[in-house]
Amino acid sequence: MASKQNLKVPQHLSVKADPRRYAAKLRFNRESDKRRGYKRVRDVFKQRARKYIANRIQRGKLTRGDCVVCGDKNAHAHHNDYSFPNLIAWLCHTHHADVHAGRLALTVSQIVDVPA
Ligand SMILES: [Zn+2]
Ligand SMILES: [Zn+2]
Repeated sequence: MASKQNLKVPQHLSVKADPRRYAAKLRFNRESDKRRGYKRVRDVFKQRARKYIANRIQRGKLTRGDCVVCGDKNAHAHHNDYSFPNLIAWLCHTHHADVHAGRLALTVSQIVDVPA
């Protein structure tokens, strides 16, 4: 995984260095999200992340796991963050719903880094 440090823009070049420009950028992002429909943008990430997992299973790089909470065999891949399609946790229907509802928090050791 690429380290965040490498992606960091030097402070003097960053739009964050100028609060007025930064505020304008945030406003622009919010408005363009609204225009494109933020939900649709998120769905594209979601689809990509799901495809990534399906592809890895198909190629034998990944085997389906059991629910990391209760061990249920009927688990599906949960993405903590759709922008990291390789990071998943196996969860049954019940515990998946718990995570999404914020009733359950995952620990780092429960998250699987899928080999590329
Ligand atoms: Zn479970
Ligand atoms: Zn999920």
